Amino acid sequence: MKKHNFSAGPCVLPKSVMQKASEAILNFNNLDLSLIEISHRSKDFVAVMERAQELALEHLGLQNKGYKALFLQGGASMEFLRVAYNVLEKKAAYLNTGTWSTKAIKEAKLFGEIVEVASSKDQNFNYIPKNYSIPSDIDYFHCTSNNTIFGTQMKNFPKTDAPIVCDMSSDIFSRQLDFSNFSIIYAGAQKNMGPAGTTLIVIKESVLGQVSRQIPSLMDYKIHIGKDSMFNTPSVFAVYVSMLTLEWLKEKGGITEIEKLNNKKAELIYSEIDRNPLFTGFVANKEDRSTMNATFNLVDESLAKTFDSLWQEAGINGLNGHRSVGGYRASMYNALELESVQVLVETMKELENKA
Ligand SMILES: *Cc1c(COP(=O)(O)O)cnc(C)c1O
Repeated sequence: MKKHNFSAGPCVLPKSVMQKASEAILNFNNLDLSLIEISHRSKDFVAVMERAQELALEHLGLQNKGYKALFLQGGASMEFLRVAYNVLEKKAAYLNTGTWSTKAIKEAKLFGEIVEVASSKDQNFNYIPKNYSIPSDIDYFHCTSNNTIFGTQMKNFPKTDAPIVCDMSSDIFSRQLDFSNFSIIYAGAQKNMGPAGTTLIVIKESVLGQVSRQIPSLMDYKIHIGKDSMFNTPSVFAVYVSMLTLEWLKEKGGITEIEKLNNKKAELIYSEIDRNPLFTGFVANKEDRSTMNATFNLVDESLAKTFDSLWQEAGINGLNGHRSVGGYRASMYNALELESVQVLVETMKELENKA
């Protein structure tokens, strides 16, 4: 049965990517060897790493602009501290928009003074704070572009002279932004790029080398840049699949084209949430709604059993909301087809007909 995978992460990847990845496990580049049994320093794998880095910068429009792309391990959570290790000398400003921002703040506090410029914790993170001011004497400003758990997304980014660091784990490559406004972008692969096991970090080199502390080698972005993400053994499979997904995105027409599809999917689900009297959206303001993760609840919880069996019978996977929000979350990353959202909307209508 065809599955419609709304999982929040790890999550849906293009079928063609999965096909190529499984072939490479058996026989990579006609070497009669598996991708995962050759040296990461072999020319065949070095080419994969270089291509993945090049494609990442190309999609973001950051080639020849002083940026480097890295594929490292430790997940986005590792960058919560690695960013601070490398760029926090005295003071940094953080916008708190959810669980991941909160975790990033906790780690950064180990390295210096953290100013929380605003927080939406007072309403269980169901909105994006606006009209806050950012101090000028900071080393950087940190934000989370898309709040995977709560379903909010920053549509505008504040103006500041300080470098902007952004956790884009769950919406990287999903929409066009002027990425040159950011000094560091990081994203765990498993939301919109590949399998778990690698993190893309895009760094403007000029922000590095300005802290006085000693940085352990594995924590040091400069060392990883100097070794082209091969200071130690990279996560070869995760990098390879990420490369395939970035190739797939290029064939699709890049971010510009996928953004149109992502907007269509989001319009479809949100218009049903708004129209159908049985459902209510979790996010307070429409302008803060995420195009990647749509969070919603049943008005009458007693319908949960009926609704759950309806969507499960339709082949839908991964629709349960995060435990801190409850209800439902439809994650609609790049590889999720419009048809899957249509199937979900049909089940919502079916519930209305039954109730
Ligand atoms: C999933 C997620 C993380 C955590 O990623 P790990 O790779 O598990 O460390 C961090 N930030 C955001 C926005 C996420 O969606």
